[in-house]
Amino acid sequence: MKKKIAVLPGDGVGREIVKGATSVLAAIGQRFGHEFEIEYGEIGGAAIDSSNTPLPTETLELCKRSDAVLLGAVGGPKWDHLPSHIRPERGLLAIRKELGLFANLRPVIAFQTLLQSSPLKPEIAENVNLMIVRELTGGLYFGKPSERRGDQQDVVVDTLQYTREEIERIVDQAFELAVVRQKKLTSVDKANVLESSRMWREIVDEKAKLYPQVEVEHMYVDAAAMKLVSRPKDFDVVVTENLFGDILSDEASMITGSLGMLPSASLRADGFGLYEPVHGSAPDIAGQNKANPIAMILSVALMLKYSFNLREEAESIEQAVQEVLNAGYRTSDLEIAGGTVVGTDQMIELILQRVEEGSAISSIMGAYM
Ligand code: NAD
Repeated sequence: MKKKIAVLPGDGVGREIVKGATSVLAAIGQRFGHEFEIEYGEIGGAAIDSSNTPLPTETLELCKRSDAVLLGAVGGPKWDHLPSHIRPERGLLAIRKELGLFANLRPVIAFQTLLQSSPLKPEIAENVNLMIVRELTGGLYFGKPSERRGDQQDVVVDTLQYTREEIERIVDQAFELAVVRQKKLTSVDKANVLESSRMWREIVDEKAKLYPQVEVEHMYVDAAAMKLVSRPKDFDVVVTENLFGDILSDEASMITGSLGMLPSASLRADGFGLYEPVHGSAPDIAGQNKANPIAMILSVALMLKYSFNLREEAESIEQAVQEVLNAGYRTSDLEIAGGTVVGTDQMIELILQRVEEGSAISSIMGAYM
């Protein structure tokens, strides 16, 4: 298989962990006989420095002529003083919107060897394997008007808008995932208060008739927030709108103990996707060879699975990660789980060796999808 991949390192630790992604991809190409052509582009603060905009046209064009996009992370204190329309994070919102990436998938898996690093009790966190499906290009973050009003500018308005089509396509995506996972879908809304949530619920109920094998439950967002930390094992696929998904997926990420472990995929209906770790640019540890590269490396596995349907290749990355963790290697964010602490580069090298050699263990992450 021959594929072109746009790689956008971004800022801070993004630039360090992207090296892990590209070297693992090269090793997969070598081992399985695929050709992955990589072309780099700038986004975020680095792009502001070079082109005065967080998403240069060349970067967008590069993504459009590629088969998938890998992104590190954006942002940092250097750009925090800028007006909001040219902040690094604007680049992220813009690229999602411009590429039509409406479905954000975040698998949350508790690794047995890392249970000690979760703030939850081990008996609550163990065996958690859930997938949050968040609508990414509609709702409050994009609705207009969004402004201050009045003579004193002391009235504010934000707009929560969804079309039927926008809700239908994300709900479809979530049902398709539930079918190949544990066949359970939790739809999260606030239908007791919001009209948008009432339409969301109606659509989920309509779609449920097409997927009789999937058990469907509706849950208010406040109840879902509680249940994610009290009974996270009860969830399989969780589907929700943009704002609720933003908050719940960060909450769920803590089940694993470190943001450095969590990959994500942002997809279009045709399979095109942007893959990135859930975490940000971690300015507090940037440049110190301390960042955990696993979220970035697992994002490559998601890309191979979702965009290219290369399941065996994806699983060989997941197995390599699991084997390195089982062997007791940790980056410093996972130190509390015990074991041998290594830097970013060494962690990449350890995973790379196992990807090159192939691994004997089976993947617990197979149920990513
Ligand atoms: P952050 O995710 O960068 O960091 C939060 C904490 O987690 C920090 O203590 C950091 O050291 C740690 N951490 C994050 N990734 C890690 C990794 N791979 N290995 C080890 N530790 C890791 O969030 P923040 O500090 O709130 O934001 C920093 C900057 O990143 C801000 O400018 C923010 O806007 C931006 N941001 C970008 C994205 C993105 O690019 N998708 C997401 C969130 C935040």
